[in-house]
Amino acid sequence: MSGLLFIVAAPSGAGKTTLVRRLLEEKADIALSISCTTRAPRPGEVDGRDYHFLDEARFRAMIDAGDFLEWAKVHGNFYGTSRPFIAEALAKGDVLLEIDWQGAAQVKKVFPDAIGVFILPPLLEALSERLHGRGTDSNEVIARRLAAAREEMRHVTDFGYVIINADLNTALAQFASIVEASRLTLSNQQKRHPDLFHNLTSTPL
Ligand code: 5GP
Repeated sequence: MSGLLFIVAAPSGAGKTTLVRRLLEEKADIALSISCTTRAPRPGEVDGRDYHFLDEARFRAMIDAGDFLEWAKVHGNFYGTSRPFIAEALAKGDVLLEIDWQGAAQVKKVFPDAIGVFILPPLLEALSERLHGRGTDSNEVIARRLAAAREEMRHVTDFGYVIINADLNTALAQFASIVEASRLTLSNQQKRHPDLFHNLTSTPL
């Protein structure tokens, strides 16, 4: 089986992490890719659950070894998606990547059928409020993230689906609808149920 690959991108502060967490609570049949990063863990983050936290030398060695399906420098730190993890997870089912637009563009080259979902805040002011509200980053880091958020949002047009996250439950229902609709296309149903489709034309009723 080859599962579907969902790519979710958003500017910092659009509520992506919460939305993805809630979606995965509802849908246990999607595997989340745990990225590698050289960024320091934030309070409460756990190595191997939120990210694989690596030093730069190790990250660069993995780039050289071709271990990343994609990698990018975001807000001054390196982030990358493990190639072997994705291959293994896709063999078992659907996979979700939470990555930036640079990574999404690289993944689309390898997996042109990947389903891109971009999450926008309803108002640009909401980004600044959410980043300040998180209380874990310095003002300088927040200013850098806001500038990067504008750059990220310029790439919304590279994504097939857009969720405007004004209300978490509405956004969650929309996200779940995108997943379900993607699973129900003719070609995906044919891949998921080959015997049924084969029997449609070959077995007498
Ligand atoms: P944060 O440091 O706030 O967790 O993430 C910062 C940005 O890095 C977010 O836009 C996030 O989507 C992106 N990011 C996280 N993991 C990856 C990855 O594996 N590859 C790429 N290209 N971006 C990533």
